[in-house]
Amino acid sequence: MPEHGVDSGPMADDDVERLRADTPGVQHVRHFNHAGASLPPQPVMDATIGHLQREAEIGGYEAFDAAEERLEDVYAQIAGLVGASPAEVALMENGTRGWDMVVYGIPFRKGDRVVTTMSEYGSNVIAMLQIAKRGVDLIVVPDDERGQIDLERLDAQLDSRVRAVLVSHMPTNGGLIQPAEEIGRIVRDRAPDAWYVLDAIQTVGQISLDMAAIGCDALAGNSRKYLRGPRGAGFVVVRQDRLDELEPPMIDNQAATWTGPRSYQLRPDARRFESWEANHAARLGMGVAVAYAREIGIERIAARIVRQAERLRSELSGLAGVTVRDQGRQQGGIVTLTHERLTPLEIKEFLGNRGINVSITTVQSTRFDMEARGLDAMVRASVHAITTDAEIEALVGGIHDLMVS
Ligand SMILES: *Cc1c(COP(=O)(O)O)cnc(C)c1O
Repeated sequence: MPEHGVDSGPMADDDVERLRADTPGVQHVRHFNHAGASLPPQPVMDATIGHLQREAEIGGYEAFDAAEERLEDVYAQIAGLVGASPAEVALMENGTRGWDMVVYGIPFRKGDRVVTTMSEYGSNVIAMLQIAKRGVDLIVVPDDERGQIDLERLDAQLDSRVRAVLVSHMPTNGGLIQPAEEIGRIVRDRAPDAWYVLDAIQTVGQISLDMAAIGCDALAGNSRKYLRGPRGAGFVVVRQDRLDELEPPMIDNQAATWTGPRSYQLRPDARRFESWEANHAARLGMGVAVAYAREIGIERIAARIVRQAERLRSELSGLAGVTVRDQGRQQGGIVTLTHERLTPLEIKEFLGNRGINVSITTVQSTRFDMEARGLDAMVRASVHAITTDAEIEALVGGIHDLMVS
């Protein structure tokens, strides 16, 4: 699929060195928080900061006019990344708002059902619980023995009462990648009118995504995680042929035209979910981040991430008292662990003092799953293609030193 004529072979050490040479942050930290906010490459910084500079120099509206073509290209880049058309893309301030615009826009009726997974993201579940107040039933499909959604039980839950199937492709709290394509086939088969909405916020930029192959109706992503773009930018992509089924929950004069004193007309495309005012610098940075990832080749990025994550999991498993907690048949770049004695906070702070960034994932973000596994918090160490073996040694060595100290 390389769109930009880049080779598709596995990423060699000098490829990784080139990517790191592009990334100012690797001089300062050993970063294992790519699933939180990755370290952006220089071209992303140049696009973002460059636009802010232009706004200061010539005025914000004038800088927008001057950047209009490059802003249009952001839609094309995102469309190309997920196998959609630019008219199906809406740019948002984050991934959650994109997801919200679709899910709150679904015309739920009393007695409808919403089906979701055990590892669904907290913000999404909170929104579902609010929608449930309208008399909609929320059904959480249990996991199978490997810790991914149980496809047989999903199949058994789906019928014409199901209005939406809402799935986090990769949860915030572990390596699991849900079988999105199998889910899509089951939804199309059992509940063809249901909305299948994929929260791809952890997978975009990490693995190849093709909305047609997945069979989802909408897909939400953001900029700051595996795409390595700036914070405060995201998107949602909605199939054009289903767009009119949604009633955007909030609209402004970007989403619609005020056509007469008492009338308005929604935009014909997915930009009806956008708001007029936006951080154009962040959007430009996100667009460059997508182009950058596509130029490297998402397949190559994916393979390198899997390799580094497996390396980290296997080294951590060798440490006494450490349990690696990742689930699922297919796993990506998020690695989670607990220690029998040390708290996640102790581990995070100790590593932080050595310039090693990890994060903590808690029950707040993924309560269904964490409660089922009896977990309150875990250390999350997420790798990317730029993660080196030496960084992995430093992380594992750090935990080792803390354990014996
Ligand atoms: C981070 C995350 C989100 C939230 O993304 P925002 O861009 O911050 O809104 C949603 N879902 C999952 C699975 C996440 O990991």
